[in-house]
Formats: sequence, structure tokens, C-alpha cells
Amino acid sequence: MSSVAPLQASEVGDWAFETDVLVVGFGAAGASASIEAAAGGADVHAVDAAGGWGGATAMAGGSIYLGGGTPIQRACGVEDTVEAMFAFLRAATGPDPDEAKLAVYCENSLEHFDWLVRCGVPFEPRLWTEPSWEAPSGYGLMFTGGENAYPFADIAAPAPRGHVPAMTNKKPGERSAGWVLMKHLADTAADAGVHTHYNTRVGRLVVDGDRVVGAEVVTFGERSFVKARRGLVLSAGGFGANEAMLAQHSPRLLGNHLTGTDGDDGSAIRMGQAVGAAVRHMEAGQTAFPADPALLCRSLLLDRHGNRFINEDGYPGRVGQASLFRQDRQIFLLYDDTANEETQQASGYVVEPTWVSDDLAELETEMGLAPGALTATVGLYNAAAEKGEDPVCHKSARWLRPLKPPYGVLDLRNAMFSIFTTGGLYTSVHGEVLSLDGDPVPGLYAAGRTTSGIPAWGYCSGTSLGDSTFFGRRAGRAVASG
Ligand SMILES: Cc1cc2nc3c(=O)[nH]c(=O)nc-3n(C[C@H](O)[C@H](O)[C@H](O)COP(=O)(O)OP(=O)(O)OC[C@H]3O[C@@H](n4cnc5c(N)ncnc54)[C@H](O)[C@@H]3O)c2cc1C
Repeated sequence: MSSVAPLQASEVGDWAFETDVLVVGFGAAGASASIEAAAGGADVHAVDAAGGWGGATAMAGGSIYLGGGTPIQRACGVEDTVEAMFAFLRAATGPDPDEAKLAVYCENSLEHFDWLVRCGVPFEPRLWTEPSWEAPSGYGLMFTGGENAYPFADIAAPAPRGHVPAMTNKKPGERSAGWVLMKHLADTAADAGVHTHYNTRVGRLVVDGDRVVGAEVVTFGERSFVKARRGLVLSAGGFGANEAMLAQHSPRLLGNHLTGTDGDDGSAIRMGQAVGAAVRHMEAGQTAFPADPALLCRSLLLDRHGNRFINEDGYPGRVGQASLFRQDRQIFLLYDDTANEETQQASGYVVEPTWVSDDLAELETEMGLAPGALTATVGLYNAAAEKGEDPVCHKSARWLRPLKPPYGVLDLRNAMFSIFTTGGLYTSVHGEVLSLDGDPVPGLYAAGRTTSGIPAWGYCSGTSLGDSTFFGRRAGRAVASG
């Protein structure tokens, strides 16, 4: 890894140019910071190492976690309150949720919705209720965190809060609504007079005493320096593309699919650390379960011993975390023909099982389980499901039905999860980067996946784009007044 040791301002000969605010990385967080810094009267330059705007944001499903009674929720007949949203997120993003950030995030969610709409982001008032990663075209609201499943349905009144920008002809994984969000943010920033520089990478910060005053930038191999009079915002994504950092902080995330870009190389986190910034939750990450959510909720998820360990209808990122971090990826999915057919109808996903049999004892042998283990698990589940109950894992009655032969088993041992990191620089609710002592590092702000934010340990879809845009804005406002 290249050195991120800061340079002293006295070592800089000439500044290529000066600006009030320098924004490093132009995805959701950087664009939101830029827009608000410009609105605060600052001259803003944003640089991005890639050849254009967007980063991971432009690839995303686009779900943004908003609630407390947004116009889209109300139009869909959904009741929600700030208190319910806070109670849910506090439980779902823990352990160790950032309660100060959660409080301002929930209290200001309606204002944030209005701001996104003012930026031109379109939302459609139609609710999608089938478990899936992305709502299809035509739907603008969905459950994205297991709000209506155990254990959260008993903690806070469930409400769907994943707000998805409207987009026609979606193709999950290829053409998704994150691009729509990003396009409107980039256009708004351009209208606000933000200057953007692509193929321009920040390698090191420049400090004057303990204050960050600029950065070294490299464009097509040419090195120069930019002075930032009021301050600098680090919004350059996470560290899922940096294997050495993963090995150091979160080794279980290694060897999976990165949900992100090469830009998630941790450079901004390291630059912050090099000037004394603290970090939080570096072990945490989003870990998408490696099978269709529509199949998962209709199946039995089994550990290496053939036992269930979590309700299969929960948010598939939470099920993924439990499978990756607690079960070490040693898992199987058992389902039947009805589950298979319903999944195909719901999502078009065709399941190709590893093993098929009418006989649980035969499957037990194929799976390498102890004799009787699978028969006991399925027997217990079926007997309770007959009565609409699941005393073991508390799956909701909507999905409870005794499984019937023939059974299919997906062997998911060592399957690849789709991951991105959620730990990063420790910041205040204003986006100030905080030192090991908890004091702001003068001149330095950060947002998005460069920071630890709303997703502390637990993650819900929409909290990354929600947190990146919301706290990006706050960092932009703070740096402009700096
Ligand atoms: C397929 C997919 C689906 C997803 N779906 C959702 C979803 O529905 N909801 C949700 O909330 N989240 C979702 N996510 C996650 C979410 O997209 C990201 O976590 C979020 O976009 C991060 O925003 P950001 O602004 O922090 O980073 P990014 O959008 O990645 O922007 C960071 C930018 O910084 C640049 N950069 C990096 N290093 C440097 C450097 N040293 N100098 C200059 N520039 C640099 C990068 O090139 C990049 O453009 C999804 C992600 C993917 C890939």
C-alpha cells in the first residue's frame, strides 16, 4: 500500500489552485456534501479517481432508508413515526448503534426526503411486498430491513422505509435506480456551480500544524497540490477492495464478491488515520445472503449440523451476517416443490438444487449430517408449521407451511457472499472527523462509507445511501462554515 503520511504545507512549493472546499470522491456522499457546501456560499471543487461520477452509488439498487411518515409512505397507506423508525434502527443496526446519529437521522428524515425531491429524485407511491433485493420498475417503497419479521416486529411498529427512485426498464445488477439518484445529485451539484475533476486521485493530505489545509492530487501520473481554505471532505467509499485492510480488520469478508468499485480501496480512511482520526466498527460489513430472498423465506436454513439458527424471513443481509460471521459459511438451504414454484412466480429465479430426494435420510447422508439430524429438524418444523407456529426461529405465519417431498437442498457451504464494508472514520453528527481523543481534526470532514455511520454493525438496505446523502449534506454545511 502506498504511503498516506501527510505532507507539511511548508513542503508544498506551488498550489495548483485554491478553493474553499475540496471534496474527495464524487458518489452519493461527495455529491451531497458538494451541493450543501455550495449552498453555504463556498467555492467547491470535487475530485474523483474514476473517469466520471458515481462510484458504488451509480451501481446501487437505489433504496434510500427514509421514514416517519413520508408522502410516499402516506400515499401507500403506511403509518409511520419518528419514534418507531428510531426504535427499529437502534435495534437493527446494533450492537453499539450510533444513537446520536440515529436521532438526527430519524428526526430529519422528512426534510431529507423533501431535499432529495428538490434535487429532482423521483419516487413512485407504490408498495412492493415480496422479499427481494430490488423493487421492480413501477414500485417506490419496500421493506428493506426485516421490519415486519422477528425480532424487530415485536420491538417497533413495522413500516416499509426503503424508498426507491423511479426508473423504467430496470435490470437488477446492470441497470438499477442508484444511477437515477446519482444523476440527479450530479446535475444539482453542476447547477450549484460545483467544479468536478475526474481521473484525479487524492494520495495524501497536506497539514499546517494540526489543521488539514489541502491535498496532493495525481492526474494521469502528474502530481500537484490543491489548497482547501475552509476544509476538506473525505467521501471516497469503503475498503472492500483492499485485501490487506480486510485481512487486518475483517478477515471473514475476504474471498467474497465486492459490492462496490475498485475505488473502495480504503485510501481515504487511511489518510484520515494518518492525521490522527479514530475509526469505528471496522469489522462490520453488509453481507448479502447468496440465494434469492424469495426462496430463502420459503425454505429452512440449516447449519453444518442440520439445525436452524435464524428466521429465514428476516432481512437477507442480517441472515447473511449470521451465516458468514457465526456459521463460517457452512450452510444449506432445504426447500420443496411448492417453495420452488412460488419463488419462480415471485422473482423468476430458477433454483438448481445440489441434491433432490423424497427421503430425508438419504439427503442427510449426502449432506454429511449425523443420522436423524435432518429428519428431526424437518419433523419439528412441520409439526409446528401445521399450527402456524415456529417456536424455534419465529418465522412469520405468512411463510409457515409444512414442507413436503420431494425436497431440494442447495449446498451453500463456502458460497460467495456479496459484501461491502460499513466501518470507517469516526465522525460527529456534523461530519467532523474525530481524533482518538474525540476532538474534531481541524479542517477535516467525512461522509458515506469512508465513515462509520447509521449502519454500525447491523445493516438494512437503504441505510448506506440514506446515511451517505444525509451526513454528506451535514458535512458539506459544516465545512462551508468552517
Ligand atoms: C450493486 C449494489 C447495490 C447496492 N444497493 C444499495 C441500496 O439499494 N441501498 C443502499 O443504501 N446501498 C446500496 N448499495 C451500497 C451503496 O451503493 C454504497 O455503500 C454507497 O453508494 C456508498 O456511497 P459513497 O458516496 O460513500 O461511495 P461511492 O459512491 O463509492 O463514491 C466514492 C467515490 O470515491 C472515489 N475515490 C475513491 N478513492 C479516491 C481517492 N483516493 N481520490 C479520489 N477519489 C476517490 C471513487 O472512485 C468513487 O467514485 C449498493 C451497492 C452496490 C454495488
